[in-house]
Amino acid sequence: MKILEVDKLKKIYHTPKEEILALNDISFYLNEKEIVSIIGPSGCGKSTILSCLTGLLDKSNGEIINKNNLKFGYMLQNDALFPWLNILDNCLLGLKIQNKLTVENKEYVINLLQKYGLKDFIYSYPQNLSGGMRQRVALIRTLATKPDILLFDEPFSALDYQSRLSVSDDVFNIIHNEGKSAIIVTHDIAEALSMSDRIIVLSKRPSTIKSIYEVKMTDMSTPINNRKCKEFSTYYDIIWKEIDKDE
Ligand code: ADP
Ligand code: MG
Repeated sequence: MKILEVDKLKKIYHTPKEEILALNDISFYLNEKEIVSIIGPSGCGKSTILSCLTGLLDKSNGEIINKNNLKFGYMLQNDALFPWLNILDNCLLGLKIQNKLTVENKEYVINLLQKYGLKDFIYSYPQNLSGGMRQRVALIRTLATKPDILLFDEPFSALDYQSRLSVSDDVFNIIHNEGKSAIIVTHDIAEALSMSDRIIVLSKRPSTIKSIYEVKMTDMSTPINNRKCKEFSTYYDIIWKEIDKDE
């Protein structure tokens, strides 16, 4: 079932010197409980799409159809945890700001921390956790306000390769266990392929959609295992050839 439709989205940035056409005619949809990745060269407009979805930026033209008024949760590039707050307080911050810190919501967050391997770290501080664990905390903080659609902007780019692999497994499992839908922005083809149901490939700016791939590989399970599927390298090569490179 389609839960979100983007129709001919256009975004022009106005600067004192010029108008920059960032997005031109971007159309795609997201189904319930699906993970869709948006991939494209740096500066093509990936983050701009997410900002238009959340309303952080005004679109210049086109439609964003969110019939059931589903809530977005936005997870940024770095984990942005406050070093002076313990893990629990970091996770509760959004609820506090929104005046929704009920006993029930607090229990929900503690339960998530326990469920996803952070039971012994609830009162620890971010600097005492590994990069991968901090990323899990950041996701739980995003989940605290119970969003329906999670938006990730290059979520693992600050992590080393090994951590990226295990965190993408963690994040994938959390998204599925919690019954969420997600849009992941990345410039990493393997990451997109291993995690998504569909991949949207953008051209360089002004960004249009070059193609959309349904990822259908034999024996798909979790991201780390999906990298071993026999069709993985074929998809990888096709998408690699398609992505605009710097001349
Ligand atoms: P990506 O996330 O794919 O790297 P962005 O969405 O951040 O790309 O940016 C797309 C393009 O829009 C970039 O080329 C950038 O120059 C331009 N851009 C982004 N933000 C602004 C802004 N606030 N004012 C003017 N131009 C901007
Ligand atoms: Mg970006």
